[in-house]
Amino acid sequence: TTTPTETDVAIIGAGPTGLFAAFQCAMLRLRCVLIDVLPETGGQCTALYPEKPIYDIPACPAVEGAQLIANLEAQIAPFHVPRLLKHRVDSLSGQRGAFTLGMTHGAAAQVSLQAKAVIIAAGAGAFGPNRPPLDGLGAYEDSGAVQYYVRRKAEFENRRIVIAGGGDSALDWALALKDMAARLYLVHRRDRFRGAPESLRQLEEAVSQGLIEKIVPYQLHGLHGTGGALEGVEVIDMDGNTRVLEADVLLPFFGLATDLGPVARWGMDTARATIPVTPSTCETSLPGVFAIGDVASYPGKLKLILQGFSEAAVAAHALYPIVHPEQALHFEYSTSKGVPAA
Ligand code: FAD
Repeated sequence: TTTPTETDVAIIGAGPTGLFAAFQCAMLRLRCVLIDVLPETGGQCTALYPEKPIYDIPACPAVEGAQLIANLEAQIAPFHVPRLLKHRVDSLSGQRGAFTLGMTHGAAAQVSLQAKAVIIAAGAGAFGPNRPPLDGLGAYEDSGAVQYYVRRKAEFENRRIVIAGGGDSALDWALALKDMAARLYLVHRRDRFRGAPESLRQLEEAVSQGLIEKIVPYQLHGLHGTGGALEGVEVIDMDGNTRVLEADVLLPFFGLATDLGPVARWGMDTARATIPVTPSTCETSLPGVFAIGDVASYPGKLKLILQGFSEAAVAAHALYPIVHPEQALHFEYSTSKGVPAA
């Protein structure tokens, strides 16, 4: 297949939201191109938690990150949407109806794409974990004794695990690994955890069954071991008392450090690593440029995949007149339009 140089809608970011935006555009017979700097589609779901179950996708009681992406891919397969993977969008110029995206492919190659409208689904941008400030951390990261994402659960079978953090990720992973771990400690600097009420209930149940030991209020203080092989995690309380938890692995979940990267330089309003949009259209302060998913912000925004799906539909409908100024878009259900055979 040849590299596309021109399209109706350029979708920057092929996470769950960008993939669903491709479906929405295709259903409205808008041509689109999906662009991502990563070698695979799926954004955070693929890169950070392919095996973690997600419970809050409508009509999917439980679906793992990688499976959700496979389902989204199956949904857009009939439309053969062109994609530019390993392409980082560095620049955006032009105006509503005639934009030019400048991209870097690999080390140096410069590629450009013309588009009538742009959907930014850049998520957390150039995301990376917040790392705990511990001496000698690098050697344990290199050996895999300290990990920030669980890519393969099987690695943790019968291991002594310390999970650190007080939010959803720490809770979800403690619950997901509790039955296979030899020991599981959950370290948090406060007494209380922040999480969905049902997760908090399951945590207390696992604690009472002896499957999870809560170490609160403590924070990480040091790593014990040699040559990258972890033997213990030292924790400290507010009064300076320390204790050492025997452990093979440490999983710190202190959130993602987000950085909009090149997106911040394209001239639209931004606010704390997000792009404010008008909720009824998802349009940014630059006419013809829309933002959806984790990167988009407005009052009441929920950073959830289901919200991003809805925003994808809103943006696709809102930008239709840019591509087809002469045609009024009549609202239809998907059934009446039909989907081509894959
Ligand atoms: P992302 O998934 O972040 O994808 C954005 C993509 O854009 C990335 O692939 C990135 O490489 C690309 N990109 C960025 N800038 C550029 C550029 N300049 N050029 C090219 N490509 C670019 N949500 C739920 O609803 N339920 C859950 O249970 C849940 N659990 C979670 C658990 C964890 C551990 C984490 C980290 C998140 C969880 N989330 C959950 C949040 C969910 O993953 C995000 O809301 C979702 O991934 C956002 O999708 P997105 O498509 O907006 O962005």
